[in-house]
Amino acid sequence: MNSYFNEEIETMERDGLDSLVEERIKYTIKYAYENSPFYRKWMDENQIKRSDIKSHEDLRELPIISGKTIREKQPPETSDFEFRSIDWDKVFTVHETSGTSGVPKTFFLTWDDWNRYAEKYARAFISQNFAPGDRVVVCASYGMNVGANTMTLAAQKIGVTIIPEGKCTFPVRIMKNYKPTGIVGSIFKLIHLAKRMEAEGISPHESSIQRLIAGGESFAEESRDYVEELWGVDVYNTYGSTEGTMCGECYKKLGLHVPEDLVHLDVYDPQLKNFVDDGECGRIVLTTLLPVGERTGTLLLNYDTEDTTVVVSRDKCPCGRTHMRIMNPEREAETFWIAGNPFNRVDVEQAVFQGENMDYLTGEYEAFLYGDEDEGEVTMRVSMECFHPDKCDHELIKDNFIDTFLKYKQGLAEAYYDGTFNLIFNFTGPGGLEFYRIKGRPRRIVDRR
Ligand SMILES: [Zn+2]
Repeated sequence: MNSYFNEEIETMERDGLDSLVEERIKYTIKYAYENSPFYRKWMDENQIKRSDIKSHEDLRELPIISGKTIREKQPPETSDFEFRSIDWDKVFTVHETSGTSGVPKTFFLTWDDWNRYAEKYARAFISQNFAPGDRVVVCASYGMNVGANTMTLAAQKIGVTIIPEGKCTFPVRIMKNYKPTGIVGSIFKLIHLAKRMEAEGISPHESSIQRLIAGGESFAEESRDYVEELWGVDVYNTYGSTEGTMCGECYKKLGLHVPEDLVHLDVYDPQLKNFVDDGECGRIVLTTLLPVGERTGTLLLNYDTEDTTVVVSRDKCPCGRTHMRIMNPEREAETFWIAGNPFNRVDVEQAVFQGENMDYLTGEYEAFLYGDEDEGEVTMRVSMECFHPDKCDHELIKDNFIDTFLKYKQGLAEAYYDGTFNLIFNFTGPGGLEFYRIKGRPRRIVDRR
């Protein structure tokens, strides 16, 4: 089944798409110079003329900015918000995202920004075969985060009904009374909900749900497989942020489509000096693209998301869409180094969610890093939650974990076999992990070195 929200744009041939992107880059740079105090000052000081920036290669002439830059260019550091690029009377909503630093970054959205954000999700929903008549429970939180509201607005554009729960702990009667056909939530929320339904005698397989959308954090393919098995439906991935990414996987599940006409996504090397080739992993750097004549509240060019990904393809997808596809992004902040070798939280998750392990495990896990490389040893202690700790096959789980975790990490495997990297395992019963005692989103990997 092929249908589109914006067929002309979504299926545009590469040449046409590339010239559309260039036209929007030129207009966006002009808009930045005329409306953003930050960019006007920067271009004047660095003697970059806006006419010098015509293509995506030329974006390298502009600075790469980050959340830190935004915080440094807003009160109390500066007298005004230097990334605000529109008059106050055109600002529809104001958002703050605090991330890990605790100091919020401010974003200003106009009503047009909301509509462009929503269009990206509307395209994604349709590419996942949502259609009028669908009823979708949104478990993402409403408020300062734009995700839930953006999806709600997207639903309005395509005739889908939203049940705006805002969290996944809603009463199971919601499932019975409204027979939703889809749920938006994180992988772990979807696991918990399935368990809660089973406990109340409703099989997720026999429920009204026809497809699920996972978002909010990166996950391992194995944990997606597990959720698909629990529910008996497809789980589609989305990636979005207040900065305006909003990428979504189509029903073919061959990577997340980037709405290239509205957001330009470059993948940079770790030093943020140059682009990496397609197929290589690097940092996601975003540039908002404004359609000619349109306006925006906060303009970000070359914004370092601190997430990493790989471009899967810029060729036409079997779904008919031509926009590039990327792999599930991972957070740089969730990457850890042992003896010069990196691994991500998602690698640990993948090792936990190995097929047979899930006969015994709930999927909940946490890991702690200890030791001192200078003294020669680092230990990772992995705790996993079992349904029944006394009927849990510890040896099988350990073997599966070690095999999977070390499989494609030669350096780590060497450190493991020569004894400079230790893995120890701990199994708990339900509710026994340390993160349960701390409020907020679980910290799955804690570096105590
Ligand atoms: Zn596709």
